[in-house]
Amino acid sequence: MFRLFLLTLFLFVSLEASSSTKLLERANSMMKSNTQSDTFRAYDDYKSLYLRSLVDNDSSLKLESLKGIVASGERLHIDVSKYSKELQKLQSQKSSYNKPESKDMKKTQNIEDMHVQPLHKLKSINWKDNRLLLEFNKELSSNQIEYFTLHNKSKGRYRYVFDIKTSMLTAAQSIKSNDIDRIKIAQFNPQTLRLVVDHTSEIEVEHRVDSNILDIALKLERVGTTLIPEKKVRDRDKIIVIDPGHGGKDPGAVGYRKYREKIVVMDVSKELQKILESRGYKVYMTRDRDKFIKLRERTKFANKKNANIFISIHANAIDGKNAKKVHGVECYFLSPSRSEKAKRVAALENSADISDMNIYGKDSYLNFLNHRNTVASNKLAIDLQRGMLGALGKKYSGVKDGGVREGPFWVLVGAQMPSVLVEVGFITHPTEARRLVDKNYLKTMALGLADGIERYFANN
Ligand SMILES: [Zn+2]
Repeated sequence: MFRLFLLTLFLFVSLEASSSTKLLERANSMMKSNTQSDTFRAYDDYKSLYLRSLVDNDSSLKLESLKGIVASGERLHIDVSKYSKELQKLQSQKSSYNKPESKDMKKTQNIEDMHVQPLHKLKSINWKDNRLLLEFNKELSSNQIEYFTLHNKSKGRYRYVFDIKTSMLTAAQSIKSNDIDRIKIAQFNPQTLRLVVDHTSEIEVEHRVDSNILDIALKLERVGTTLIPEKKVRDRDKIIVIDPGHGGKDPGAVGYRKYREKIVVMDVSKELQKILESRGYKVYMTRDRDKFIKLRERTKFANKKNANIFISIHANAIDGKNAKKVHGVECYFLSPSRSEKAKRVAALENSADISDMNIYGKDSYLNFLNHRNTVASNKLAIDLQRGMLGALGKKYSGVKDGGVREGPFWVLVGAQMPSVLVEVGFITHPTEARRLVDKNYLKTMALGLADGIERYFANN
């Protein structure tokens, strides 16, 4: 989330240098090349132009950037429904402007469309001693302010973040301070104004809302020679989507003693959800009961939730004479790998939802992979695998490391965040299957996965 903010800041800065028109031209010409990487670059450009149009209240730029987001996004199979809805609305408004006879209709439509929101406009920013005063055009309520910290002690960075909801769009700017390294304010998204105080040592921060003023007191702590006890601060401002595989009419693999994959993976997922929520993360499940969900809908859901990571949970299976031999836990991330092993597992997991294959085209879908996500997904897979093996190995004997692998899994296609498919074990193996229906085993596994997730967030 925070990285997104930095990116936004960066875009504002870079946009100031090159004009919006130039950027729009560049994006449009990249769309002509038709390669995946150029389309991605165009998509990024259109999105920053869109943000720019909101800040500048520039309706023609908004129209052009929305058109670009929808065209490039659809080509990349990214869920752009939100943007295309807005585009349609904008186009219908435009056409009604052109027809004078529909004036009355336009009026009523506009009132409905505007959702009349109590927008708060930032009027001024002032220092008063060591207090930063943000003055708005109308009264604030304290539940409009969300305050949190993002510390990274090893890098010597302390960040204090204020999100101000339903604020009117403001251009990004730095606030000067003699003592503090950096204070920046920028639009985080159309509904949120974000203020970040960034310093190399800890600051005492207090804030209060006084009518239309957000009053933030910033006191630098004097460290001197006395040691200040370390408070362990972790960044838990993350959204995690857990995807229990299969469900409903699709039982997944059916193994030893007819144990079903869809049940096992739901049990692990619920344990994992509980642990992550207790640690302060925001967790969403693609399904929380025995229900069929198309593969494509699963990543779409994660995209919609703006998830930081997507974890699809599965159990593996193998036929006949190998069933007593093959066991172990594995993590997969999406890549165009053609290894026999990866193909076999992928064929198993992909079979549930043939309809999606037609949408992506049998081979061409691999061209839509986002390279940045592949690298991050690989890292996430390593941390998850390590976490699982670490936790299980302490309590159970003979847990086999099946390794981190890459493979062409449909369920991971289209995810806009690092995503991993976890195979929690072979449901066809007598010992492993018995463990997979044992609550304590699943709890231990979930604990290992949660630790892996935390390690991933801590390092990335
Ligand atoms: Zn599965």
